[in-house]
Amino acid sequence: MSAAQKLYEGKAKILYTTEDPQILLTHFKDDATAFNAQKRGSIVGKGEINCAISSHLFQMLEAQGIPTHYLDRPSPNEMRVKNVKIVPLEVVVRNIAAGSLCQQTGLPLGKVLPQPLVEFYYKNDALGDPLLTRDRLLLMELATPAQVDQLQTMAQQINRILTDFFAQCGITLVDFKLEFGLDAQQTLLLADEISPDTCRLWNQADSDPDRRVMDKDRFRRDLGDVEGAYRQVLERVLAQPIQS
Ligand code: UDP
Repeated sequence: MSAAQKLYEGKAKILYTTEDPQILLTHFKDDATAFNAQKRGSIVGKGEINCAISSHLFQMLEAQGIPTHYLDRPSPNEMRVKNVKIVPLEVVVRNIAAGSLCQQTGLPLGKVLPQPLVEFYYKNDALGDPLLTRDRLLLMELATPAQVDQLQTMAQQINRILTDFFAQCGITLVDFKLEFGLDAQQTLLLADEISPDTCRLWNQADSDPDRRVMDKDRFRRDLGDVEGAYRQVLERVLAQPIQS
């Protein structure tokens, strides 16, 4: 029997094959990068924390009817997932203006958006993950028109579920990034991870614009105690039972 092969190593995770071609093993690393890998570092315990948070959120979303690639978590920093073909899009959902939305539009940080904004970025490091229009995305054949509609609908549903879930944790879900994959039946499944690396999360108990930050912005902006903030998110997430 062949041993697990490294299939791909990304900035935060390594993907391995397993003896079952339908199943892959994701290893979550402590490595952290920002600004298209121009800033590099390590957050102690991040691999385990993000694996645990993502696993809990995927199970919670499955229980609410969202199909995901999640199977189980055989060790603290490993997740078994369905082998899907990743759609090369980063689907970003925003509830509150922050990050690149503020930089590119001039909207003030913290402005509550009148309705959630769903955006598509091209997952391509060499091009700097550019923002796409629907027409560009279709022109590039990154997805079919029906798939774009479905991605939009799923992203909105996931946003509603996650916003409510994080509110129960005393956390405001500002924005987040999703990735999707297609299984052998061409069904779209939620993939990748959902963690403080891929979400902006603000502590509702603190209005200070720096102290409230519980996500990767602590690393990006050198705000300190990144690990403590990630652990706090983990504790609050795990305290919420999974309900269907
Ligand atoms: N995001 C991500 N990976 C990326 C780009 C963005 O997980 O490659 C997440 C980011 O953490 C934030 C949301 O998507 O929660 C929106 O990010 P934004 O476009 O504001 O970019 P940033 O300011 O993070 O560069």
